[in-house]
Amino acid sequence: MKAAGPLSEGDKRRLVLRLVARLRCAKCEHPYDPHDFTLVHSWQDMWVLSTRCRHCNEPCHVVIFMRLDAELEPQAELVTDLTPEELRDESQRRPITLDDVLDVHILLEQADGNLERLLAG
Ligand SMILES: [Zn+2]
Repeated sequence: MKAAGPLSEGDKRRLVLRLVARLRCAKCEHPYDPHDFTLVHSWQDMWVLSTRCRHCNEPCHVVIFMRLDAELEPQAELVTDLTPEELRDESQRRPITLDDVLDVHILLEQADGNLERLLAG
């Protein structure tokens, strides 16, 4: 069994990809294409992604909290359909340092804002 410890960046990316691949539009229930998700922001174990339904054009925000349980597979909790105000509240749960912001900008630049490329990296 794998030793418990902080999730690696690779683990996080795999978790995120697995989760978004299961999502359906809340409005029309059309499945989302994981390729359409973009990473809006990430702070340590919390990632914010957004997409727009290809079918009905409904915007969707996804906040994913990731944690590693010593006994279990890596777990991730998914929160969707937040308003921009709620997203702002979520972001205030943790202090955001300049380094975090720079990290995200660098990641997004490398991936052209495309989550699939980011996850594949
Ligand atoms: Zn839809």
